[in-house]
Parts: sequence; C-alpha cells; structure tokens
Amino acid sequence: MHIDILTLFPEMFSAYLNESILKRAQESGRVTIHLHNIRDYTTDRHHITDLPPFGGGGGMILKPEPIFAAVEAVLGEPLVVNRLHSSSLIPHPSIILLTPQGRLFNQKVAEELAQHERLLLICGRYEGVDERVREHLVTDEISIGDYVLTGGELAAMVVVDAVTRLLPGVLGAEGAAATDSHATGLLEGPHYTRPETFRGWTVPDLLRSGHQGQIEQWRRQQALRRTWHRRPELLLTAPLTEEDKRFLAQLAAGE
Ligand code: SAM
Repeated sequence: MHIDILTLFPEMFSAYLNESILKRAQESGRVTIHLHNIRDYTTDRHHITDLPPFGGGGGMILKPEPIFAAVEAVLGEPLVVNRLHSSSLIPHPSIILLTPQGRLFNQKVAEELAQHERLLLICGRYEGVDERVREHLVTDEISIGDYVLTGGELAAMVVVDAVTRLLPGVLGAEGAAATDSHATGLLEGPHYTRPETFRGWTVPDLLRSGHQGQIEQWRRQQALRRTWHRRPELLLTAPLTEEDKRFLAQLAAGE
C-alpha cells in the first residue's frame, strides 16, 4: 500500500512512523508513506497557507489552492470534479480529509481502507480547511472521535497505524490481528506472560495446562464475558455461535 500525507507539519510524523512495527512495515516494503508539506505548494512570495474566514469570526482557514495543488502534484494529474458525487471516474486513491465532522473511524473502516492500494490523507489545522476542499476534492472524510484536536496529524497517524497493521505480513504472528478486540466483533479476553506468579497473583491454571482446545474455549468465553460486561451493545451485531449464545445465556442467568 502507498500512503501520502499532506500536512503543514511533516516533522510531527517522524518519531512515530520510524519506530517498531510501522518502521518494519516500511522497511519490508509492505507500506510506503510519503509526507508532503502543504506549504511547498504555495505560489505567493510569503508562502501563505491560511487566511481569516470570510464573514469574520475567529481562527484561520487553510486556503484551497495549495491543497488542490499538492493533491494534483502527488497524484500527477489535475482534479476538476467532485469525486464524492461523480460516478464516471476511474478508480482513484481515496482522498481523505481528517475532520471531526467525518464518519467515525473504527476497526471496520480500518479494514475497508486496508483494501485500497493507495490512500491520500489531508490534515487540517487551525479553524479547518476551506469548504471547497471538502466539496470538490476529497472522496472521504474521517473523524477519529467526537472531540476536537488542534490538527489532523494525530488523526492521520491513528489511521495509518490501524490500517498498516492490517496489511498482510505486517504483524509478526500471521493472523494476530484477526483475534484483536473489534476485529471479531467482541473485545479480546485477558493475556498473561511470565512470571507465573507475580506479587501473589497467579496465571489461570488452564493456560499452563497445554490443552489447546480448552484454552481456545476459555479465551472465547473470556472475550464474551468481557464484552458482556464492558460493551454489551457489541453483542447485538457480533457473529455468535450457538455455543456462544448458550454461554451468554448462562452469564445473563448469573451462573
Ligand atoms: N473548526 C473545526 C470544526 O469545528 O469542525 C475544527 C477544526 S480543528 C481545531 C483543526 C483540524 O484538526 C481539523 O481541520 C482536522 O483536520 C483536525 N481534527 C480535529 N479533530 C479531529 C477529529 N476528531 N478527527 C479527525 N481530525 C480532526
């Protein structure tokens, strides 16, 4: 997968993208991530990227010209139509605006984005971006939660991280992402590692028994129990087996 990120602050990304799993994913070529400074696409002498809003009010608004120019340069072609509302275009990378007004990001959206060969993320700043970017340039708008950040950079990093770890071969143990919380529709159950006893707290015997079938059943039940207690609404849409339903019925009956 290839990801382009348009931002006024490319330096903010380096620490996060150049460590651990994201670093290895890039080194192995499973993902390439290019950062583009929106300021580099200004054409005026002072490299202005933002101006006060028409009609007054506080804050500064990111100007449309450098953002359009950056997207066109990165994709290597002029964009003159609103992709959101056009059906006649050849498939293009998703052009995603990070905004608190977008559709809420979750594991399903991450899985959907992980199917794309190319993503382009636009990070807003200040009071936001000129509305014409939203209307005529982007194909998608994503919010990482119902709160307001100072800029889209953290949101872009959240999206890049959640999507990259889903790409084939990125996580060490193949399939590890498949049992994560939300991937199965449930929260994942507890994990333990050595030592067996820590400050008097002991790892459940079963996990040290070597009975893999029973361990898998225990894990499933722990996931169901945890979801039942913390996020019961997830059980309404999670795919459940008959055995899961029986176990939940026992939980509900207080057994
Ligand atoms: N005035 C805007 C509004 O009320 O919708 C908020 C602007 S916010 C201070 C500046 C930028 O941060 C946004 O343009 C967006 O790129 C980013 N941002 C803030 N909160 C976000 C969120 N929850 N999800 C994604 N991006 C966010």
